[in-house]
Amino acid sequence: IDARAAQYPDKPFLLAAPEGDEAAAGAVITFAMLRERCRALERHFRTAGLRPGDVVSVFMGNGTQTAVLLLGAMYSGLIAHPLNLLCQASQLRYIVEHSDTRMIFACDETIDALAAVRSELHEQGTMREVALVRTAPDATELPVLADAPEAASVGTDDEALMSASGDAKDIALLMYTSGTTGAPKGVLLSHHNLLANARNISIEHRLGAEDRVLASLPLYHINGLVVTLITPLYHVGSVVMVPRFSARTFWRDVARFGCTWINVVPTIIAYLLNGDEPGGLDLSALKFCRSASAALPGDHHRAFEARFGIGIIETMGMTETAAPMFSNPYDPARRRIGSIGLPSGGEAKVIDLEGRACAPHHLGEIVLRGDQVMRGYYKRPEETEKAFTADGWLRTGDLGYQDDDGYFYINGRSKELIIKGGENIAPREIDEALLRHPGVLDAAAVGVPDPAYGQEIVAFVVPRESHWAGTPNVKELYAHCLRELGRYKTPKEIHFVKELPRGPSGKVQRLKLVAPAPG
Ligand code: ATP
Ligand code: MG
Repeated sequence: IDARAAQYPDKPFLLAAPEGDEAAAGAVITFAMLRERCRALERHFRTAGLRPGDVVSVFMGNGTQTAVLLLGAMYSGLIAHPLNLLCQASQLRYIVEHSDTRMIFACDETIDALAAVRSELHEQGTMREVALVRTAPDATELPVLADAPEAASVGTDDEALMSASGDAKDIALLMYTSGTTGAPKGVLLSHHNLLANARNISIEHRLGAEDRVLASLPLYHINGLVVTLITPLYHVGSVVMVPRFSARTFWRDVARFGCTWINVVPTIIAYLLNGDEPGGLDLSALKFCRSASAALPGDHHRAFEARFGIGIIETMGMTETAAPMFSNPYDPARRRIGSIGLPSGGEAKVIDLEGRACAPHHLGEIVLRGDQVMRGYYKRPEETEKAFTADGWLRTGDLGYQDDDGYFYINGRSKELIIKGGENIAPREIDEALLRHPGVLDAAAVGVPDPAYGQEIVAFVVPRESHWAGTPNVKELYAHCLRELGRYKTPKEIHFVKELPRGPSGKVQRLKLVAPAPG
C-alpha cells in the first residue's frame, strides 16, 4: 500500500457504485487516500489496545469502507477476518467464538444479529469481550473506535495460531471456508500467500494499471477478496465496488465504468443468461469474464460466449489456496470448456488412494502445492493434518483427472461421489444432463442409501416456469435422463424444488438436500 501510494498517489483505486444511485458516481479512493486511511486506522487500532496478531472482523456487504477496513487491518499487522453475511445465527455464533475476534465492524443491517450473538456467548461465559463498531459499507469517514476490551481469561489461542502458522505475525487473513461439506474451517493466510496469488492472477490474466474490475462478488469470500481487491492493488488497477450482484444493473455498471474484466461465479452466469440483453450498452472495454468457485456447466459457458460475445476464462481455487490454483490460458484458442485449466503459480497432480500419481484420464484426488497454499486451519490441528499428504501436498477433496495435454478436470467432491452398485458416479454428470433440458433452471443430484445398490441417485430440479404451462412434467424429465444418461445413471427420484440451497459463492450445498418424506 505504501509503495503504491508513493508511486501512483492520484490514481483511483476504489470507485463506489452505490445501489439505486445509477446516475451519480460514488466516492473515489485513490492510492494516496488508501494509505492515509490505513495509517489512521493503524493509529486507532493501537490506541484501542489491539496488538499485532489480533483478529479484527468485518460484517458488512461490499463497499469502499468495507474494503478499507479489511486492508487497513492487514496493513496494521492485525488479522483481517471478513464475516460471511449469509451466516445463519448458529454459524455466526460458531465463527465469532471460534475466531477469537477482538473487534467487529458492523452496519445497520448486521449489528443487531451480532449484538444478540455476543450477549448469548457472554452469558455462556465462553467468549472474551469483543468491541462492536458501527459503520456503513460505503461510509466515507473512518469510524471512531471504542477501546478494545482487555484480553480476558479465555484469550486468543496464541498457541493454536502459532502451531498452525509458524509465525502468527505473518498472518494477514482469517477466512472461513464455504462450509459446503461440513462446518466452515478457519483458513489462515499469510501476506506471502496473498501476494503470491495477486502476482499470479495479474500475470495469468495479463492485468495492468489500465484495468478495471467490477467487484460484484462478496469480499467475505476468498474469490472476491483476493481476486477483485488484492490483485488490483498488486497491478495498480481499479476496483468498482457494487454492493451486491444484481442482474438488472450488472451490464449497465460494466458499461458506465468501462470495466475491462469481470469476475463471476457460475450462478451469476446463469442469472445473466436468464436476464435482459445488454442491448445498446457499450461493453467494448471488456476483455474477458473470469469464472470460479464452482463447476460451470459447458452449455452455460457456450451460451454466454455466444450471446454476449465475451470469452470466459474458467479457473479453480479454494480458500486454502488464497483463491485460484488453476486457470485456463489467456489465449482463447488454448482454453478448454469444462476444464479448470492448468496449474497456476504452483504444481498439481492427481493421485490414487495409495498416493501414486494417476495416468491421464484416470480419476483420483487433485492435490497441490505452491506459495499460495495455507499452512493450516485455525485451532483445528487434526483437520490441518488431514488436509495434507504425508509429503506435504494439499488435498483438495476434489475428484478429477488430467487429459493428455495436462489440463485438469473436476468431477466433484470425494465426499459427494455417488457410489451405485460399486460404480462411481459424479453428481455433476447428472446435474449437467438435467440442465440440458429447456424446462430445467437448476439441478443437483445426490446419493441416498439404497438396500439394493448401496446408493441410489436422487435429483432435485428447479423448473423453469416459463417452459411449462402449469406443472412441470416429471415423466418428460425421466425420458430425457434415459436418453442422456442411460438407465443406470437415470435418477430414481426427481423432486421439484423452488430453489437449491447455495452457499456464499453460489455452490450447491448437497448435504442440505433431502428428499421429502413419502406421502
Ligand atoms: P468447505 O471446505 O467448508 O466444505 P468449500 O470447499 O466449498 O467449503 P471454498 O474454499 O469456498 O469452500 O471452495 C473450494 C472448492 O470449490 C474447491 O475445493 C472445489 O470443490 C470448488 N471449486 C472451485 N472452483 C471450481 C471450478 N471451477 N469447478 C469445480 N469446482 C470448483
Ligand atoms: Mg473445501
